[in-house]
Amino acid sequence: MSEVLKVEEIFASKVFTLSKMRERLPKNVYKEVKKVMDQGGELPPEAADVVAKAMKDWAVENGATHYTHWFQPLTGITAEKHDAFVTHPDADGRMLMEFSGRELIKGEPDASSFPSGGLRATFEARGYTVWDITSPAFLKEDATGVILCIPTAFCSYTGEALDKKIPLMRSMEAISEQALRIVRLFGNTEASKVVPSVGAEQEYFLVDREKYLQREDLIFAGRTLFGAPAPKGQELEDHYFGTIRERIGSYMKDLNIELWKLGVTAKTQHNEVAPAQHELAPIYETANIAVDHNQLVMETMKKVAGRHGLTCLLHEKPFAGVNGSGKHNNWSLCTDNGVNLLDPGDTPNANIQFLLVLACIMKAVDTHADLLRQSAGDVGNDHRLGANEAPPAIISIFLGEQLEDVVKQLIETGEAAHLIEGGKLETGVSTLPDFEKDATDRNRTSPFAFTGNKFEFRMVGSADSIAIPNTTLNAIVAEAFCEAANILEEAEDFELAVHDLIKEYMTKHQRIVFNGNGYSDEWVAEAKRRGLPNIMSMVEAASTLTTDKAVKLFEKFGIFTRVELESHEEIIYETYAKTINIEALTMIDMASKKYIPAVIKYTKSLADTVIAVKGAGADASVQAQLLSEVSAKLGAAKEALVKLKAVTAQASSMENARESAFFYRDTVKDAMDALRSPIDELEMIVDKEIWPVPTYGELTFEV
Ligand code: ADP
Ligand code: MG
Repeated sequence: MSEVLKVEEIFASKVFTLSKMRERLPKNVYKEVKKVMDQGGELPPEAADVVAKAMKDWAVENGATHYTHWFQPLTGITAEKHDAFVTHPDADGRMLMEFSGRELIKGEPDASSFPSGGLRATFEARGYTVWDITSPAFLKEDATGVILCIPTAFCSYTGEALDKKIPLMRSMEAISEQALRIVRLFGNTEASKVVPSVGAEQEYFLVDREKYLQREDLIFAGRTLFGAPAPKGQELEDHYFGTIRERIGSYMKDLNIELWKLGVTAKTQHNEVAPAQHELAPIYETANIAVDHNQLVMETMKKVAGRHGLTCLLHEKPFAGVNGSGKHNNWSLCTDNGVNLLDPGDTPNANIQFLLVLACIMKAVDTHADLLRQSAGDVGNDHRLGANEAPPAIISIFLGEQLEDVVKQLIETGEAAHLIEGGKLETGVSTLPDFEKDATDRNRTSPFAFTGNKFEFRMVGSADSIAIPNTTLNAIVAEAFCEAANILEEAEDFELAVHDLIKEYMTKHQRIVFNGNGYSDEWVAEAKRRGLPNIMSMVEAASTLTTDKAVKLFEKFGIFTRVELESHEEIIYETYAKTINIEALTMIDMASKKYIPAVIKYTKSLADTVIAVKGAGADASVQAQLLSEVSAKLGAAKEALVKLKAVTAQASSMENARESAFFYRDTVKDAMDALRSPIDELEMIVDKEIWPVPTYGELTFEV
C-alpha cells in the first residue's frame, strides 16, 4: 500500500496563516494585524517589527534563508528579487539573521526594467513594493532554497500603480462600498463589507520535455508556429473527462500536494477537450487572494512538470486545429455576514434584492461590454475569442431558461407571475426557483453565464492574470450599484421605486441577454443588429481603456487615473508588437535553419532516386512528380520567408507603438500564415525520417 497522504496536515504548511500568527504574536499585535486586514489602515511600525520577527523566525525554522517581495508587474506574471536575512557580523564575527518591520512593509526593487507604459519616465524612476497584509506570506522551495515570499503591491514614487494588484484592491473597496449601500436598502445592517469571491478554473497542456526542447517555437513563443494536424484530433471526444494516464496522474498528484502546501485549495482535476489538455480548479476565495493563488497555480504547474519530464504549456493556443486553453473566472459577491448577492434566495425580500443586483449587472455589462472584452485581451487569446471553441469576442449574458423568462415577464408586465416549470408565484415577485438546481443547459458558448449563484466569465486567457478581469467586473458593477443606490436612497416609496428601477434597467439592457448558440454566424449578425460591440483583437480592444466613458468610470472610484489607463493602453501595444515579433523571428529561424535545409536534402535524395531509377531503365514518373511538387512548395516557402523577413524588419523599425502593433497584426501575421502553409503542406508529403521537429501527433498523443 502506498503511503497515506495527510492532506489536513500538509495543507498551508508553507503559509504564514492567521492561525500561525495567533500562535506566534502577542495578543495585542495579533489584534492589530487582524484589524488592518479586516478594515484597512496601516500597521504601526512597532507592530510591524514584531510581525516581521515572527514571520522571519517561522520562515527560518522552515529552512528559509532569503525573503522576497513577491509582486505582479504589468508583465502579467510575478516578479521577485531575493534578499538573504544575513546581516553585518558583530564584533565577535557572529551573524544573526534579521528582518525588520521596515523591510517587511516596503521594498525598493530596481524596477526600471518592468513595463510602465511611460509612467515612471514621467514621474520618477523608482518603484516601490508595499506589503499586502491581506494576502498571507508563504515559502517557496526550489533549487534556490527556501524563500519567504511576501505578497506586495508595486507602485511608483508618486503612488501610480505599476502592477495589477493595486487597481484590483481599489476596485474591491469600490464594490464593497457600493454593494453595502444596496444591502442596507434591504435592511441588512449587520454587514460591514462586501467581498468579491473568485474561483478560476485553469486549463493547460502537458507535453514531453524532450520533444518540447526540439521545438524552438514552443521554447520561444510557447506555441507551435508550424505543424500539420495529426491524423486524429479531438473529434472522437474521447479525451474530455477521460481516464487520466499514469504519467499525468502522477503529475497531478504532485501538483496538488505542492499547491495544498501553499494553501491553494486545488479541488477538481480532469482531462480537457483537446489531446494533452487538462484542467485544475481550486475552491473560490476572496478576489485578491484568488489572483495571487492563480499565479501560484500557474508557476507550480510549470515547476512540477519539470520533475516529471514534462513541460506545461499555458499558452492560449499551443496547437492549431484543436481547442486552446482558457480560464473560467467564476465571480460572486458576498457580504461578511454570509449573504451571496448572486443567490436568488428564498424569501421575496431576498428575491427582489437579487433581481435588483441582476438588473444592475445587466446594465453594467451592457454599458461596458467593450471594457470587459478588453480585460480578457491577451496576445494568445486572439486565437481563441470568436474562433468557435471559446466564447465569441462579443459580450453577452446567459441567464438560463427560467431566469430569462422571469426577466421577460418583468419587462413585459413589471411582475414575474409564474415560473416556467409550472409553479405559480403568489404576488409580484414571490420566491424565485432554486437556480442552482436548475438543470437547464449551462450554455458553454456564452462568455458571461449565470450559473446558479455566480457569474462565470469565460473569456479570460489561460496564461493571463485574472487581476484585470476582476478589477473591471468590480468597477463596472460598482458604478451600476452606485447609480441605483443614488436613486433608491432618495425614493419616497422604496418598494415602488425598486420595482420601477428593475423594470427600467432590464428593459433598457435586455439586448445584452442572449441564451442561444454563441458560436453561430447568426449570433454575429444578430449582435450587430443589437448594436453590441464585436472587438476582434487585443490591439483593437486597447483603446477602450481611454474612452471618456472608461476614464470617468475608473477615476470615479479611484481605480485607475487617466494617466494609468493611457500607460496600460501603451503597454498593450508594446506587448503585442514584441510578442508577434518574437514569433516572426522564431519562424524565420526555424524555416531557414530547419525546414528548408531538411526539404532541400529530401529533394536531393529524390533527384538521386529519379536518376538511378531512370538509369536502371524503369519508370521514374512518380518520383519525378513528387520531386516537382516538393520543389514547388519549397519555392513558395522560400518566397514567403523573404517576405516575412522584410515585413518584420519594417514593423520593428516603427516608432509609434500603436501603429507598430497594428502593422504586426495586419501585415506580419499574414506573412507568418503565408510561410506556415507551404511548410505544413510539406510536412504532409515528405519522408517522416527527415522531418526536423516532433510532429503534432508526437507532441499531443505521446505524452
Ligand atoms: P463547473 O463550472 O466546471 O461546473 P463549478 O461550478 O462547480 O464547476 O465551479 C467552478 C469554480 O467556481 C470553482 O472554482 C468553484 O469554487 C467556483 N465557485 C463556486 N461557487 C462560487 C461562488 N459563489 N463564487 C465564486 N466562485 C464560485
Ligand atoms: Mg466552469
